[in-house]
Amino acid sequence: MKRACDTEVQPAARSLVNRYAGTTVLAIGAHPDDLEIGIGGTLAKLRRGGAHVVMCVASIPKDYDLRLEEARQGAEILGCELRLLMDGGPKRLEDVKNCDLVGLLDGVIREYGPAAVLTHSKADFHNDHLLIYNACRPTQRLAHFDLYSYHPTNCRPVPVEFHPSAYVDITDTIDQKMHAISAHASQFGVRGLDTEMYREFAHVQGRMMGVPYAEGLDVQRMLLA
Ligand SMILES: [Zn+2]
Repeated sequence: MKRACDTEVQPAARSLVNRYAGTTVLAIGAHPDDLEIGIGGTLAKLRRGGAHVVMCVASIPKDYDLRLEEARQGAEILGCELRLLMDGGPKRLEDVKNCDLVGLLDGVIREYGPAAVLTHSKADFHNDHLLIYNACRPTQRLAHFDLYSYHPTNCRPVPVEFHPSAYVDITDTIDQKMHAISAHASQFGVRGLDTEMYREFAHVQGRMMGVPYAEGLDVQRMLLA
């Protein structure tokens, strides 16, 4: 006799890709390179699966032209649309009032109508990243999108209290992620930093879930139909 637990669930039918295929996914990061480091593999996977993926970079604090070009290259490698929130020249997030930042993000939510939003985590240690996390939270009042936080992003590893509640298998897109990170040469090679720690970190997270490479997410809000 077949028991309920014997029923086979096809992995493809419950995949992240199927959940968001044909929809818009909005990824929000404070600076160029945050999205590639935090969720580059996830974004490439969503794009390959048929989602319209928008990489919204909030600000470029300095070296505007260079970092904008690096952001363009990173987005192109991942197959995503790049959207610069505060464009027209170098700008610092801490110079913007919180209510104005929420207003800018409200505008992006209204424009794209995303099925999912991925942003920084409250466990992050960089004040700009926390400003974006705190400004994203009130946008939840506008629409019923799924909301995720990604692992704190940094060029040098530091201890953080981030505990993923979901993992994305990025085995098929880890090379794309690493390529996109390397587009930000001004943040790594030029400063004598190497990017291989991101591959190692994805490997460690993957081993926790029985796959070669993974990215961890903290689910903030999700509707299960
Ligand atoms: Zn950043």
